[in-house]
Amino acid sequence: MHPHPAPSGHLLPEGEGQFQRDCAILDSYGLDAMKWQEHLQCVECTGSMVRDDYRCSQCGVRYDRASTGAPILMTAEDRQRFQVLLSQDAGSHMQAEYSGRLKRNWARRLYPPEPVYVNPAAPPLPVAKRGLNLWIGGGGLELPGFVNIDVAPVRGVDIVANASKLPFQSDSCHGVACLALLEHVEDPERVVAEIHRVLRPDGEVQVVVPFCHPYHAYPADYSRFSRERLAGLFAGFHDVEIGIRTGPTTTMLTFLTYYLKLILPVHGGNSLHRNFNRLIVGALGWAMFPLKYLDVWLNRLPTAHVLANHFYVVARKWKSAGTHAEGEPGD
Ligand SMILES: [Zn+2]
Repeated sequence: MHPHPAPSGHLLPEGEGQFQRDCAILDSYGLDAMKWQEHLQCVECTGSMVRDDYRCSQCGVRYDRASTGAPILMTAEDRQRFQVLLSQDAGSHMQAEYSGRLKRNWARRLYPPEPVYVNPAAPPLPVAKRGLNLWIGGGGLELPGFVNIDVAPVRGVDIVANASKLPFQSDSCHGVACLALLEHVEDPERVVAEIHRVLRPDGEVQVVVPFCHPYHAYPADYSRFSRERLAGLFAGFHDVEIGIRTGPTTTMLTFLTYYLKLILPVHGGNSLHRNFNRLIVGALGWAMFPLKYLDVWLNRLPTAHVLANHFYVVARKWKSAGTHAEGEPGD
């Protein structure tokens, strides 16, 4: 039994097949570092960056690289702030888990399936468009063709940066994916404004956020989003679609799972207790998970949103007349 379901962990399984299919048709910047470097800008002064050097041509700031090789494109102030956040318990747990996702663990096969049914009406995981695609808050998961941006320099992260100060030029990105991230930032309005800024006219953003979901610190947890809040957040976009990604039964089973782990902790304590608890929680998990298919029916009810577990948003940036010719993507 996984002690702390990842905020975006449930986003992955249903998309994995899709991942593999998409890998074959990729033609985007995620695989070509040289291309995305062209669109970087200095987060201190918005000046352009010297290629291959991560140095600002305007203010002269030189950016370090993490041990993974990923450039740390944060302001000095942000770097200090996130270092503090990540060194706390939740932060180190998050980094360990992100790194752990990339390893194989045989014991994991005994874990019950996550009690999560993804609404087939929700869009599948975003597919990279030709051009520059950003995955904000991707952590240890890789989305083919996307430049993976996160605050922690774990494996798979291409750029260490703050989502509310993206190191990319305005109107430079064709697509942005931001899955289970906005609840982890202090100011989601500012992050959405940044996404809007870096998107090219008619560029698409896909977002997933929790509504009825337990607290989970990655490395902190600030908000939940109702449909009205989302409509307000994306008011500056067009073709905005908001819907249920995971519904009422997923909500109930997720809360029940967290509740069981509160009573029967699967972490800490002595190993006998811990393993006993894991057995019970795991067995109950196996017994409960088929109930998730009730959402096949419940997600269709007009009132299902009152207990929605996660909402999705798909939206496009307006084509602003005059500022950008509607050229070929990738030019
Ligand atoms: Zn600069």
